[in-house]
Amino acid sequence: MTLLYPIRNSLYVNITNLCCCKCVFCIRNITDSVGGSDSLWLDHEPTMEELKQELEKFDLDDYEEVVFCGYGEPLMRINEVVEFAKYIKSKKNI
Ligand code: SF4
Repeated sequence: MTLLYPIRNSLYVNITNLCCCKCVFCIRNITDSVGGSDSLWLDHEPTMEELKQELEKFDLDDYEEVVFCGYGEPLMRINEVVEFAKYIKSKKNI
């Protein structure tokens, strides 16, 4: 289950598979992964603890930005987005 994945200088957060849209261009319709990541389909919606543990595997100094964009609409979990963004900010002003 891929929660975080790098693309160039960005670290992407795959925080949900929930989505209220059905965009015709949605990449979920044609592949299971992006930019060399493993499958972005989640076994379950990740907990904050799982996200924090996964973040420990990455060095934030390697990235210029964190992007909330995975296989779902991140703001379906807006409380978790805000909490995790604050947590990341507490680690590095990125
Ligand atoms: S995951 Fe993103 S691109 Fe795909 S349907 Fe939802 S909002 Fe659209």
